[in-house]
Amino acid sequence: MPTIFSRIVAGEIPSYKVAENDRYYAFLDINPVVKGHTLVIPKHEGDYLFDMEDEDLASFTLFAKKVAKAIEKAIPCKRVGIAVMGLEVPHTHIHLIPINKESDMYF
Ligand code: 5GP
Repeated sequence: MPTIFSRIVAGEIPSYKVAENDRYYAFLDINPVVKGHTLVIPKHEGDYLFDMEDEDLASFTLFAKKVAKAIEKAIPCKRVGIAVMGLEVPHTHIHLIPINKESDMYF
């Protein structure tokens, strides 16, 4: 059974694309904690970030870094926060959350 994120990658479920390459996909969270809240995922399924092979983890985080820099340009913010939750969707993902002040982070 594919995860909901695999179905998004396959185009079966619509999403708002932020960035993409052959291995990774970034899209807006359907339930954002702030404007610009973005999820970055590998297209290939896996459950947990730190179960990734080192080389895959390195290229995935470099892709996430590029997305974070693009978000910083698009949405004025103090910093793009990074979170790895993984409680709801069992498909490796990083949350990128543009924040301006401590009170923006309420989850
Ligand atoms: P986590 O697994 O890290 O706890 O949370 C998964 C995140 O995925 C949540 O922030 C949730 O809003 C988001 N999400 C769940 N289903 C969908 C969906 O179908 N589309 C999008 N764009 N985001 C989703």
